[in-house]
Amino acid sequence: MNDRSESLTRWISRRIQPGQIVKYTGGGGDFIDDARMERLLHETGEPDKEQVKDIVAKSLAVETLSLKETALLLAVKDPDTRAELDRAALAVKKKVYDNRIVTFAPLYLGNYCVNDCLYCGFRTSHPGARRKVLSAEEIREEAGVLAGKIGHKRLIVVYGEHPQNDTEYMERSIKTIYGVKEKTRHGYGQIRRVNVNAPPLSIEDLIRLREVGIGTYQVFQETYHHSTYRRMHPSHTVKGDYQWRLYSMHRAFDAGVDDVGLGALFGLYDWRFEVLGLVAHSHELEARFGIGPHTISFPRLEPAANSAVTKNSPYRVNDEDFLRLITVIRLAVPYTGMIITARETPRIRSLSLDRGITQTDASTRIGIGGYSDATRTQDQDRQQFLLGDTRSLDELIREFAQRGLITSFCTAGYRCGRTGKCIMDLLRTGQEGKFCKLNAVLTFREWIDDFASEETQAAGERVLDAEIDEIRRMLPAVYPQFIEYYERIKNGERDLYF
Ligand code: SAM
Ligand code: SF4
Repeated sequence: MNDRSESLTRWISRRIQPGQIVKYTGGGGDFIDDARMERLLHETGEPDKEQVKDIVAKSLAVETLSLKETALLLAVKDPDTRAELDRAALAVKKKVYDNRIVTFAPLYLGNYCVNDCLYCGFRTSHPGARRKVLSAEEIREEAGVLAGKIGHKRLIVVYGEHPQNDTEYMERSIKTIYGVKEKTRHGYGQIRRVNVNAPPLSIEDLIRLREVGIGTYQVFQETYHHSTYRRMHPSHTVKGDYQWRLYSMHRAFDAGVDDVGLGALFGLYDWRFEVLGLVAHSHELEARFGIGPHTISFPRLEPAANSAVTKNSPYRVNDEDFLRLITVIRLAVPYTGMIITARETPRIRSLSLDRGITQTDASTRIGIGGYSDATRTQDQDRQQFLLGDTRSLDELIREFAQRGLITSFCTAGYRCGRTGKCIMDLLRTGQEGKFCKLNAVLTFREWIDDFASEETQAAGERVLDAEIDEIRRMLPAVYPQFIEYYERIKNGERDLYF
């Protein structure tokens, strides 16, 4: 073995800290009970009208559903009842998040990876993958385009698992992104919240990420089904350890990172099982830490270069089932943010909005270095998979505005301590809505003035007028202060929030 592979082997062998699994399992099994979940799926019959009514009432009261109730929703076949559930899902979203939608951009910082996930274009055994990790200068360029030209305020930064993308690199790259400040038409643009999609980390490493000010920490379990997990992730790899991954969020909470994002990669196993897995994971976090997931993601398996699984999996999820799973997750974990990405087509993204999605990406480029190099087209050897929707942020915001939705660039929550349990309680009781409404209008004003095309501005002004009118009527006590901030923003001041 040469020096390089020896040091890589050593690095890999130190990744998993068994003590930080046993801390939660006591050395035994984990909280995903495959047999019970399979039984629930196979033995639960279609619910009657009364049962559906009771379950929907619970969701509307912003209470997490039990696994049994979730299985009942998954068993609904009647088309009218399904349509009723879709309407209820949207009502829950409106109750918790009103007409707001949040946008972000993914930023892939490196695609080196020691793992060999069968479905991923970045896996170590993909010989054609062109590997790259962004330098500080390249990160500044990418963040500069995102914050200064497109107008994003939130990013999700994505890392492979490799010494080149280790915790020190993560810290440096996040600090670099927060340091970018670009002049815009009337003010300046900055990335104000960096969410992280990274491999499972130790508590010590997560403390370091908390200290640089990350937003949400996301780790997708990929599949909750133990034996499928084993097949997809070779056992000699770091990712081969199911429990190290499953308890990532426990470690995050113990490190003081209390906005966490769950997810499953839909298409590896029965989608209904994965829905129960996500709900079971939410229960576990609520029970242990008093807080559930800040967001849930449900990427669908996309074709990836040199990956047979992505093309042949018998569990690939069709559009109809995909929309159903969105509805059921919305109802089962009513307070959580729900993210749909540009993997999906414009049609599916549009339909998902009617079922309670709260966050989406736009102007997305997932090739490493793809934002500053506008000439680079989608290229399978440089990116993980191909995108289904390449529309710009401006186009998306216009569509939202035409549907009466306001795009919120608010990132105030985590900057003034409204995270974790605090935000969860505010969401459950509808109080977060007050701050969010005010901040959505202020940040949307900024974006319109700095970045909107004429057509999008016209649609956006109509939404702003309606929102301001509502604030005047519903929140008279804060209205004077709000309107003062609003006018100051119109005059070029930035980043004023409640
Ligand atoms: N390397 C880290 C990890 O695996 O946790 C984070 C980065 S990884 C690129 C982010 C996510 O991409 C994975 O968690 C997985 O769900 C998703 N992904 C991987 N291959 C995919 C594919 N072929 N289609 C859709 N999503 C995929
Ligand atoms: Fe690596 Fe993540 Fe891709 Fe797996 S999904 S190969 S861990 S980048």
